[in-house]
Amino acid sequence: MIESEVARRSLIRAVRPDRYSESLLERLVTSHDLAPMPKVAALAFKMMPDAVIRPKEAEEVAEVIQIANSWDIPVTPRGGGSWGFGGAVPNNGGVLLDMTSMDKIISLDAERGIVRVQPGVVWLRLDEWLRRRGYFVPYYPSSAPGATIGGWISTGGVGVGSYKYGAARDNVRSLQVVLPSGRIIDTAHISDSKHPSQFDLTSFFIGSEGSLGIVTSIDLQVYPDPEAFFPASYSFANMDMAYNALAKISEARLKPYHVAFVDDNTFRFLRAMGREAPEVGGMINLVFEGQKAKVDEELKFFDALMTSIGGKRESDAVSHHEWMERSYELRTKKLGTGAVIGEALVPIGETAAVARETLQLVKKMKMSLAVNGYLIDRGTVAFLPYYLTDERRWIKSISSLSFVKKFLDISNAHGGRGVGLGLFMANNVRAMRDVNTVKLLRKIKYDIDPHGRVNGGKTVELKLRFGIRVGPRLFRAGMNALAILKRMYPRDKYDRPVPGGFPGGEHP
Ligand SMILES: Cc1cc2nc3c(=O)[nH]c(=O)nc-3n(C[C@H](O)[C@H](O)[C@H](O)COP(=O)(O)OP(=O)(O)OC[C@H]3O[C@@H](n4cnc5c(N)ncnc54)[C@H](O)[C@@H]3O)c2cc1C
Repeated sequence: MIESEVARRSLIRAVRPDRYSESLLERLVTSHDLAPMPKVAALAFKMMPDAVIRPKEAEEVAEVIQIANSWDIPVTPRGGGSWGFGGAVPNNGGVLLDMTSMDKIISLDAERGIVRVQPGVVWLRLDEWLRRRGYFVPYYPSSAPGATIGGWISTGGVGVGSYKYGAARDNVRSLQVVLPSGRIIDTAHISDSKHPSQFDLTSFFIGSEGSLGIVTSIDLQVYPDPEAFFPASYSFANMDMAYNALAKISEARLKPYHVAFVDDNTFRFLRAMGREAPEVGGMINLVFEGQKAKVDEELKFFDALMTSIGGKRESDAVSHHEWMERSYELRTKKLGTGAVIGEALVPIGETAAVARETLQLVKKMKMSLAVNGYLIDRGTVAFLPYYLTDERRWIKSISSLSFVKKFLDISNAHGGRGVGLGLFMANNVRAMRDVNTVKLLRKIKYDIDPHGRVNGGKTVELKLRFGIRVGPRLFRAGMNALAILKRMYPRDKYDRPVPGGFPGGEHP
């Protein structure tokens, strides 16, 4: 609850009574994101906001921030809440800005191929809207059915189609941002945004995880709907062969639209749920799009390449199914009642080694894990392991979270880096950037937001409730202790009694 009645009334006036809520249910729903945080975490963080506000326009956001500044109230922006690092979760209560209410698709500039949207628009909806007008958005997170455009940009998004079309940074032309002072800025001039000759601030806000301001409007590059679109899946006897195939694809003169992989454990989990899934050592899913003749040429080329290195072309039905499943990697989370994703960008030549060491770690920590991922450019793999967890067993569940830190250590050691920091991995910034850069990042944060009110205590530093700062040493020691605790438990099983029941089984 917002303590000051005057502040409360001002906040309600800034939006409207029906877009201001202190209901326990709304505050509970917004007190976590994808990561399972047990109640005991409330000792460290006040994750439950005092109020949830749903703004509709940038001016309302600006007014809320100005009021929050007057009353020293923290502000946390939230999109779909589908990220797993606590970026959209308050660390010390305050106002939660639910940006999903800013969900207008404002305009399409067909001549320039630029669509202007509010940040709460969900990717899938934008794609459907564009398709009806002969356009499409070829890059998006695989969480497209629930993730917002503002959320993806703020996490520095990579995703489906990044291999051919690039990441958020390559496709955002301009942003409107409400700064922590409450001022509204445009990061680029629209007529200058494609080939900026002026000081373009857009990139500065991409990947800043809501710590430098609230994104209230986005100009995105979009493309004409392709003439042809074709997925083709290839199975391999084991994952080493599949990782080798990724390297070969990246060396090829042609470039598929999307290159993804799925490991054998994913299929094993699906079978344990009673679903049909191929009994293969691993799968590479290629997708081609563009002019029909070009798609045919690419398919022929990659068909020859993949079969020459041990791949078996799966039927069109399997390929189509794999493509349609691209947004549902976590279907198998039902097996454990929860799942946690680690996400790292790994140099392509190191993928097999990172996978091997991650599986060794999983064995030591007695966990159940599957891996999928995709190429984001010719040299980099987005490597996404996820483990099953039982959120009802909170000590075990919280001790499992140390896997994410340990997995990031493995990828760092191989020249990779984690995707994002948020609240839980904020201390990892020291492992990802040199000390001078971290100092500069913190300086920028505090120059723009002197009291650290907008998504403070995250991303460039870790602060607990009441403003207590936790350094990386303490964080590392805590994570190591949790990992040791996890090893003391019996091996994870995924045959928990789940309503509806699964056949279940033990991780190999
Ligand atoms: C099954 C699954 C697949 C996934 N696949 C991918 C993938 O392919 N690529 C990928 O990058 N990620 C992926 N993710 C992670 C996550 O879904 C994405 O990062 C997603 O884009 C986050 O969007 P969101 O709207 O849920 O953001 P949230 O989780 O709500 O927020 C993420 C961060 O952005 C900030 N934020 C949100 N809105 C704003 C705003 N308007 N202004 C300023 N800051 C804001 C929040 O404070 C927070 O720090 C996946 C997750 C799942 C569950």
